[in-house]
Amino acid sequence: MMRLSLRLLLTLFLAGVGPALAQDPGTLDKEPLPPLDHPDSPSTPAKELFARKTKPVPLAARSIGFYSSGCLAGAVALPINGPTWQVMRLSRNRNWGHSKLVAFLERLAEKAKKVGWNGLLVGDMSQPRGGPMLSGHASHQVGLDADIWLTPMPDRKLSSEEREFMSAAEMVREDRLDIDPSVWTHERTELIRTAAEDPDVERIFVNAAIKKALCREAGSDRGWLAKVRPWWGHDYHFHVRIYCPADSPECKPQPPPEPGDGCGHELDYWFSDEVLHPAPPTEPAKPKPSLTMANLPAACRQVLMAP
Ligand SMILES: [Zn+2]
Repeated sequence: MMRLSLRLLLTLFLAGVGPALAQDPGTLDKEPLPPLDHPDSPSTPAKELFARKTKPVPLAARSIGFYSSGCLAGAVALPINGPTWQVMRLSRNRNWGHSKLVAFLERLAEKAKKVGWNGLLVGDMSQPRGGPMLSGHASHQVGLDADIWLTPMPDRKLSSEEREFMSAAEMVREDRLDIDPSVWTHERTELIRTAAEDPDVERIFVNAAIKKALCREAGSDRGWLAKVRPWWGHDYHFHVRIYCPADSPECKPQPPPEPGDGCGHELDYWFSDEVLHPAPPTEPAKPKPSLTMANLPAACRQVLMAP
């Protein structure tokens, strides 16, 4: 059960983030997952198997497969406290990645200071062995994706409670057509620009309203905008994806983004009625079938089974 202190609850309430939390809270009482009845059954969802692996495979670093169907050997953890970053939601044990991703985050955290950003609050990266997750993401499976909050790190070490329950600020205006000018600041544009300019970065995903703000604020140097793509959600954090590392021949790259800054008419779709006010479904949506081990590269079975 959650042991949320009254003081923290009150703080959250006064901050106006009471019921509509911008993202899932964690927990201070993490229980290990119960063993599976049929772990070897071919129909067992791979997310159930990977979620039960609490330690990485101590092999050379290797990202295997595609961002949304793969796994990770030789993961390293981003330390939960750094000079200019802190990891959030520690109970999820998702601060794992390929060493290239960890190095990127440490580099960005330092560069961020120079554009007026106090430090990074880092959300989900990958599980210790990558793979699909029980909650949250379709990607983040090969240790090359990370979510970074659009709320700056405060000047103190956050408590365990804050790391589980603190909510990031919503950046998008209520009508979803633009950012909320009362929370958005230009440092956020410079932070995302700094990330996009890193040569290891392949893509960055943000809400379309945030992309619109970046387009407006970018000025004449616009090359970096091509990597920054609009996507659903991503209204309180941005998602950074790095390229397949050279040590990972089984890593499948994503095709390069369309050339151009992606501003202007390319954004219209995201502000159309069908996206902003979708018609209620006529029949309940069928749940998507979960990935099984057969849907992942064969090498992921070794990663899963390794001691
Ligand atoms: Zn993400």
